[in-house]
Amino acid sequence: MLSVEDARARILGNAEPLPAERVRLQAALGRVLAEDVRSTAPLPGFDYSAMDGFALEAEACDGEGPWEFPVVGESRTGHAPPDWVKGTACRIFTGAAIPRGATAVLLQENVLGPDGEPLRSARGLEAIRFAHRPHVGEHVRLAGEDLPLGALGMARGTAVGALQLGLLAALDRGSLIVSTRPRVLIVNTGDELREPGSPAPGPTSIPESNSVVLAALAQSAGAEVAVLPLTRDDLETTRRAFCAALLHCDVLVTVGGVSVGDHDLVRPALEAAGVSLDFWKVRMKPGKPLVYGRSGATHVLGLPGNPMSAQVTFMLFGLPLLRALQGQIERAPRSFSLNLLGSLRQKPGRRGFYPGKWEADGVMPLGNKSSGSTVSLASADVLIVMPEELEELPAGKAVEVISLR
Ligand code: AMP
Ligand code: MG
Repeated sequence: MLSVEDARARILGNAEPLPAERVRLQAALGRVLAEDVRSTAPLPGFDYSAMDGFALEAEACDGEGPWEFPVVGESRTGHAPPDWVKGTACRIFTGAAIPRGATAVLLQENVLGPDGEPLRSARGLEAIRFAHRPHVGEHVRLAGEDLPLGALGMARGTAVGALQLGLLAALDRGSLIVSTRPRVLIVNTGDELREPGSPAPGPTSIPESNSVVLAALAQSAGAEVAVLPLTRDDLETTRRAFCAALLHCDVLVTVGGVSVGDHDLVRPALEAAGVSLDFWKVRMKPGKPLVYGRSGATHVLGLPGNPMSAQVTFMLFGLPLLRALQGQIERAPRSFSLNLLGSLRQKPGRRGFYPGKWEADGVMPLGNKSSGSTVSLASADVLIVMPEELEELPAGKAVEVISLR
């Protein structure tokens, strides 16, 4: 039986990045950058004012204030600033270019009225009087202070989320080169399964509840996903379904039928379909029976059918594989440490991954940690990682958790 790390290393060691394609900026959401994006202009592109007020030469405010300057000209956003007239102040607005020669911006709130009190409005003033001594650079944002010309704005291998789109837009990119989407096909096996919401043929029929989760997770990792029709527990039917699927995907995900029961036909069916199996057992709970193999360039993940097992193993192995296929730098799920708010027990020997709720002062294990539970993961924020050798984790201990968000 492999450790979780060894199993993941074997899967990722086989993952060659897919080719790249160009997409519009808006379509890059959820994709992985396949190019280094550098700035082709400094960010910001010119010195500009951070506030509404008056651009002036800070060095001209010598001696004791208050100082007085005539107002000449106006600099507004989207327009070239006026020529600088020495010894004056220039009306300026947030985002407008600093006229060449000005070195600071005086806030309009600092302009004094005839009574020595701050003015209500700075509109149409012919001169300004103020007692605040501006320092050089005050309220001025300098060209290139966010990112100099030619600097790396975003590295190849970065996953593009909402916040990354903003920087790519600011870097003036209307399109980007990203990895192509891995094509994922999901095949569910089991005589007991039916489509959710369809009539139950008998009391032992159950709604198929894994593929909708796996498909959504895979899509969120950038994949293109299709779920194939439910497959019965019959070797030849299963083999044929696998053969057809293998031709059309980068990753075949099978669900159910990988343990040692008489009707667990997925391993023989995969082998009969020409898949060479690499491993089929991982030292973890849930999810001990987990199959990984390859057929040519296609990766095959055979997940156990128990809902918690299928979903946890897909998050721990399937998502990293999809990220690796897209050349993403960060592949393994992120973990961090939280204070355990309730105790956990397990039979030692396998690493435990148990659903937990992230609360203000730590993490609370969720009620049912049975691998058959369809309930616990739906309210989980994290998976609590319980080391192989431990039988008990008492409340109050710091534990490793994996974020599910
Ligand atoms: P298996 O891995 O086929 O031995 O199935 C283990 C358990 O998971 C059994 O109780 C199955 O009925 C259940 N199961 C298998 N596949 C699914 C599925 N796609 N959705 C919900 N439950 C499933
Ligand atoms: Mg089954």
